[in-house]
Amino acid sequence: MVSVKTSATVPCELCGTRDSVEIVATRERDGTPLRVVMCPHCGLVWNDPRPSAEALEAYYREEYRLDYKGTVEPKPQHTLRAVRVAIERCRKLRSELTSGQPVLDLGAGGGEVVYVLQRLGFDARGLEPNEGYARFAREQLGVAVSSGRWQQAKIAPASLSAVTLFHVMEHLDRPLAAMRLIHGWLRTGGLLWIEVPNVEAVCQAPTHRFHRAHLYNFNDATLMALGRRAGFDAVRAFTSSDGGNLTAVFRKSEAPEAMGPMGLPGNADRIRRILQGHTMLRHSLSMAPFVRPLRKLWQRASEAVGVLGSKSPTDLMDRAILQALQSGVLSALLTAGEWAGSLA
Ligand SMILES: [Zn+2]
Repeated sequence: MVSVKTSATVPCELCGTRDSVEIVATRERDGTPLRVVMCPHCGLVWNDPRPSAEALEAYYREEYRLDYKGTVEPKPQHTLRAVRVAIERCRKLRSELTSGQPVLDLGAGGGEVVYVLQRLGFDARGLEPNEGYARFAREQLGVAVSSGRWQQAKIAPASLSAVTLFHVMEHLDRPLAAMRLIHGWLRTGGLLWIEVPNVEAVCQAPTHRFHRAHLYNFNDATLMALGRRAGFDAVRAFTSSDGGNLTAVFRKSEAPEAMGPMGLPGNADRIRRILQGHTMLRHSLSMAPFVRPLRKLWQRASEAVGVLGSKSPTDLMDRAILQALQSGVLSALLTAGEWAGSLA
């Protein structure tokens, strides 16, 4: 980690600091130059400078999925991987929602979360900036996923019970503005559920931490504070078992308390200690370099078997959901037996 003080071209989204930010990285995960800075007052980490809003919009509309997955539409193994992840996400989310509630998945990808939520009895829809993935969701999965960015969404005020963002918030150039807009879409008591990569994660090689498409990097303190600034009650935050992903849960309160820019004393020190402590040497001596490739190998093999004999993406997804219902991983409005009957 480099730790040099500099001025940022974009002020801190949380506390407004522009001067004396720290440079925490100068390269992204593929080795190309990328300047990543951290605010010393609150610990928010962001890419600085960054592309223009127009360049970002074109990137997400056309190139991003191709960049990440090498495809304009999900392949069967991507669909299976995505539905398995979607099932796990909906399993956690399920306990916070009541049946039939309107839910919006922002940055819906291929529509897998929307599909699983619909199957579980929710009035779910999605919005996705990438044309190819949004079309796939509509045409192949038959779910309501429209193409477009969050700024263009036509959502009636106070019409939603929940908004979910899975690995989306880190890509947004104005996360606070996005959260404020979502606040307006939600009913009082409505749920905002956000999952992002955890900047404190040490399960990956330190060189893999930063990415040009991840404009912001959060820990639990900065993400929860951003939600409070947008007028939400911060309910809880938790990480995945490997510490790689961070989830923050918010509710829209009756009378939101307007909050101005805020610092988070000690948070930058905490993040700096974690980044400095996570060296290549320490990473090489940990179990992580062995566990991750093995887990991935197992995952790929299981996906190769899992897609065999599937007739369509929905067939693939229904089988995965049914398996989750039968094994008790998921609970739905229907029992697994009734659900299987409805498929026949
Ligand atoms: Zn700050």
